Order: sequence, then C-alpha cells, then structure tokens
Amino acid sequence: MTDISLTKDSACKAIDAASASLFGISTKMHAEVELAFEEVKAQAWQCAVLREAGFKVEEGLGSLKTAFRATVASGKPGPRIAFLCEYDGLPVYGQSCGHNVVAAAGVGAAIGLAKVIKEIGGTALALGTPGEEGGGGKNILHREGFFEGIDAMMLVYPGMDNIAHSRTVGATRVQIAYFGKAAHAAARPELGINALDALLLAFNGISALRQQLPSDVRVHSIITKGGTLPQVVPDHTTAVLTVRANNAATLKQVIPRIDACLTGAAQMTGARLERTWRDTPGRELLSNAALAQSFDRNLRELGLVTRPRDELSGAWSGDTGNVSWFVPTIQPQMAMTGRDVPPHSHEFHAASIGPAAEACILDSAKAMAMTAIDLACDGALLRKVKEEFAAARV
Ligand SMILES: [Zn+2]
Repeated sequence: MTDISLTKDSACKAIDAASASLFGISTKMHAEVELAFEEVKAQAWQCAVLREAGFKVEEGLGSLKTAFRATVASGKPGPRIAFLCEYDGLPVYGQSCGHNVVAAAGVGAAIGLAKVIKEIGGTALALGTPGEEGGGGKNILHREGFFEGIDAMMLVYPGMDNIAHSRTVGATRVQIAYFGKAAHAAARPELGINALDALLLAFNGISALRQQLPSDVRVHSIITKGGTLPQVVPDHTTAVLTVRANNAATLKQVIPRIDACLTGAAQMTGARLERTWRDTPGRELLSNAALAQSFDRNLRELGLVTRPRDELSGAWSGDTGNVSWFVPTIQPQMAMTGRDVPPHSHEFHAASIGPAAEACILDSAKAMAMTAIDLACDGALLRKVKEEFAAARV
C-alpha cells in the first residue's frame, strides 16, 4: 500500500468503528421526524456523536438555532473541508428525501477525516444545515458568513445510482392569492366574483403553456385554499407553485410566461391577484468536475459501480445549489433504492432505513473522507478544483 492508501484505510476503519453511532443517528431521525428549523433532537444526536469523536462543537449558528458546526483542526496548513449534514423531514412524507442518511454520512465522513487530519494537515468540519425542505437554511447560513473560509465541501444524496458528478436544477416559487366577491351561489351568483375559477383558469393556462416550454422545465403546484362553502361563491383562494429548470437563464425566461397565466386569469374573472415570487431563485448545483472525478475513483476503489450523470432525466433541486457558487462543491447521488422508488414518496421513507440505507451511509462517508484526503494530500488536485471553480463562476 502507498502512503495515501494507508491513510484512506485508517479513515475508513474509523468510520466502520463509528458505524453503530452513525446508524443510531439515522435510525432515531427516521423514527422521530422533525420539520424544518425544529430539528432540535437531530442536532443533539449528531453533536453528541461528534463531541464523543473529539470535535469542538458549536450548537446554534447565527440566527439558526438548529444549525451546528463541529471542527477538528490539525494545527498544520491545509484545506478546510466541510461535510454538510441535512436533517429535516417532510410533513406527512417523513424521511422521504433520506436526510437521515445524508446526516449520518456527513458525520461519518467528518469522523473519518478527523482521524487522519494530524497526519495530512488542514481542518475537518461537519456543518449542520437545517431547513432544507423549502426553508433554504444554507442560504441563511451563507448570508451570515458560515461558508467563509471553506476550501471545498460535499454531501451525498441517496437515490438509485452512484453518480459522483450529480446535478440539481434551479427552482423558484410563487405564493398566489385571488380575491373575489362572496354571494349566494344559487340565489344571486351574478353578484359574485369567483376566486376559485380564477385559480383553476390560471392552472389550466399553465397546463396549456407546458407544451411550449423547454423540456427541462417543471411546473408543479397545489391549491392551499379552494373556498369556504360550496353555497358561497369563493371570494378567497390560495395556491403555491414551483417552477424548476436546468439553469437560471431558462428559469428567467419562463417566469414571465407563468406570471402571464396568473394575471390573465384575474382579468378573465375580475378577481384581484396578489402573488409573491421568491426574491432570489435557487440556482442549479455547480458540481466541481475535478472533485467529482476524485470521488468517482474512490467509489470504484470501494468496489462500487458508478454511472455518469444523465442530463436528460428529471432532477430535484436543493439549497446547496446557491452555495455551490461560493465554495467548490459536490453533491453525489448514492445508490440506496430500487428503480421504482421516487423521492418524496412513502416508499422512499421506507427505503431510508435498513441494510441498504446503512450500506449507503458507510459507502458515502468513506468515499467523502477519501476524497477529502486526496484534496489535502494532492496540491495539484486542490489547484485544479479551485481553477475550475474560478472559471465556472465568471
Ligand atoms: Zn427533498
């Protein structure tokens, strides 16, 4: 074995030795799901394991009381490498995004890197980033300066395949409200203005628009208030709509076309529209190809089969997207589920626990720690990562 493979081996052994604690974090988070920014137990479980492993732990960062940062510094020069943990679940659908696996893998990778950090130099960080599902916790942490000084960062997402250079898409959201006029729906309908019709016409307009949209655009929505009583012409309806596209430029083109459907429906019905588009759309992930290549090599060293990313298949978005434009990042997808299990489903929640999830946690933690070791030991790789990042941001 070469020096670097001995170092990687000792990081992997530390992760194996911590497996009971890592599975404990994941299992408890699966059994007791906490929603965005309320993840007090998940924070405590992760911080306890990190403290036990010798990390200096800060619980609560800036305005986010369920964020955390755990640090082991070597005292020698070298990159500061962060592993991101996410730990909120979804209402009704639980850990259907697998954040319990994301968290345990991040903690495990940090423990693996910390084990060898004195030998290789630099700093190992675990950064707890709450409120991923619609909360944009990472955007808040970024605004408050918690991504400053990090040289590279990574997190994994469980899915169907091992894809190092994975992608996520850009997204934005609009809160919609129509205001009409109530009237007896049978006795005096001619005096009413129907806010539900406005909403349905807007949705139908968007459905017609879909055939003219680029193939990567996804528009999806729910009605959060459809009226109060069937015998009253609905005078107030609300909805939430998300628009996603591969990149910010497409998103920018599509937003006015969606907005025209919303205003058009108001004009058709006489209802008044109030809508609030999210200030800053979430950007697509800037996945660092050099870092992803190292991750891919390490996956294959672990004996895993890897796949290239598929530009045509659907993709999710996340709050790592925006921050990936400020720090070199990868967010690989790691194999955990069968091909018939969609994220954000009851089936995915069920798949986020058990032997496949545990294998995913260990494989992910090891591959991330090994990639961090490559980065700390290979100055040329670190330079390549930084150069690629600087060129992509222009
Ligand atoms: Zn999700």
